[in-house]
Amino acid sequence: MQPKDAAEDIVIAGAGLAGLAAALGLHRKGVRSLVLESSPSLRASGFAFTTWKNAFRALDALWVGDKIREQHLQAWALRVVASATGEIVREADFTKQGKRGPLEIRCVRRDLLLQALEEELPKGAIRYSSKIVSIEEDGNIKILQLADGSVLRAKVLIGCDGINSVVAKWLGLAKPSYSGRSAARGLAHYPDGHGFEPKFLQFVGHGFRSGMLPCNETDIYWFFTWTPSEHDKGVDESASKLKQFVLDKLRGSKVPEEALAVIDKSEMSDVLAAPLRFRPPL
Ligand SMILES: Cc1cc2nc3c(=O)[nH]c(=O)nc-3n(C[C@H](O)[C@H](O)[C@H](O)COP(=O)(O)OP(=O)(O)OC[C@H]3O[C@@H](n4cnc5c(N)ncnc54)[C@H](O)[C@@H]3O)c2cc1C
Repeated sequence: MQPKDAAEDIVIAGAGLAGLAAALGLHRKGVRSLVLESSPSLRASGFAFTTWKNAFRALDALWVGDKIREQHLQAWALRVVASATGEIVREADFTKQGKRGPLEIRCVRRDLLLQALEEELPKGAIRYSSKIVSIEEDGNIKILQLADGSVLRAKVLIGCDGINSVVAKWLGLAKPSYSGRSAARGLAHYPDGHGFEPKFLQFVGHGFRSGMLPCNETDIYWFFTWTPSEHDKGVDESASKLKQFVLDKLRGSKVPEEALAVIDKSEMSDVLAAPLRFRPPL
């Protein structure tokens, strides 16, 4: 006799931020779901996100906002500097009371955010090493074929499987488009404290946009976005080449030495680049 396919009411594809947040949102409402993740464990690599007030409202709704607040510094201010001249072109005080209260901005470490969401989910809510390879429909039921040969039948399928989503492909959504820009990112770790104020510093112009912001007392997140040219081919071949490329670009501008030192301080394993891609909404 053929083994019966497993069945679930709600399946979420992908245990990234979107998948875990969707699962936790359902859990808080008393609704069970199963998250299928292709990797053998939580993909907690990466660096950080500048997380604004609207994101904190979402995290509060999931009851993890305060945990994230405890782990990260609140940014007081923004300073935007023209990279070509060193002039301050914009300053904003986040502590001032605006129409909707003060702006809450923190630079949240990706690993801590993923872990905070995962910890709140009930045991067994995430099934790792479970890559969805194809989707078919049987009436209202979605039949999910997994890479390990198993089959799962789901009443509801929620696609949170990232930029190369199989769910989006199955739905016939447009392919993500390339913005023409790439982003290099890194994290500088200072075990004895970095001593920087929690200010969001940005450098614009001169062919790039770059910025940095402390996450907590020991980590500073930075990014560098640019439009790669033929000339830049191969700069992302290794972390050391990429870091050198970013430093060379910044050294040719009026970005201050203390900002360059932050990037220089990043471990090689803590520097990565990726093309910035965008999926248009439905
Ligand atoms: C490892 C990593 C590091 C990142 N670091 C940063 C950063 O430092 N700063 C920043 O601004 N952005 C970063 N990003 C991008 C950022 O996390 C995402 O753009 C954003 O969070 C969108 O999240 P998401 O949950 O929609 O998608 P993702 O975060 O891409 O999550 C999708 C998940 O689905 C899983 N998946 C994919 N296909 C399948 C399948 N067929 N079956 C089952 N599971 C599948 C993937 O393994 C992944 O865990 C990173 C992304 C990743 C994956």
